[in-house]
Amino acid sequence: MRKTGEYGEFFPIALCPFGYNETMAMDAFPLSFTSAISQGFRWYEEPKKELIPQTCVIPNDTQEISDTLSTEIFECHCGKNFKIILPEISFYKKLKIPIPQNCPSCRHTTRMAKRNPLKLYEGVCGRCKKLVKTSYSPQKPEIILCKDCYQKEVY
Ligand SMILES: [Zn+2]
Ligand SMILES: [Zn+2]
Repeated sequence: MRKTGEYGEFFPIALCPFGYNETMAMDAFPLSFTSAISQGFRWYEEPKKELIPQTCVIPNDTQEISDTLSTEIFECHCGKNFKIILPEISFYKKLKIPIPQNCPSCRHTTRMAKRNPLKLYEGVCGRCKKLVKTSYSPQKPEIILCKDCYQKEVY
């Protein structure tokens, strides 16, 4: 391995059993199909499944939901079916939050879209005016604190 230069390196791409588009790398560093393939990554083609019509309406009041909801099939706006499992139902009931209307993939995409982009800007601490690196763009209204001011604020 030392002779071939493999020693100490990360595992080669060829050993990865997953498609690039089904890993967290796609969230942080999105690639197109052609770009991923040309760099040696695999690509996951989701098998086409026939959409099964939704078997029940998701109730608005989480407390009224029975455990039989886990046997129902739901339709997402993206054209995929999804189910809600028993631990999910008890979790939503416990926290008194509504049952999701979208499939897990769409929920993940929505969550990822709310994050700040992976880019650092030069910012100024809102208290001591020290220069800091931040993922908040200067146009955003949020007040950025340096590490020391943040620690003083929190503890
Ligand atoms: Zn969906
Ligand atoms: Zn500061």
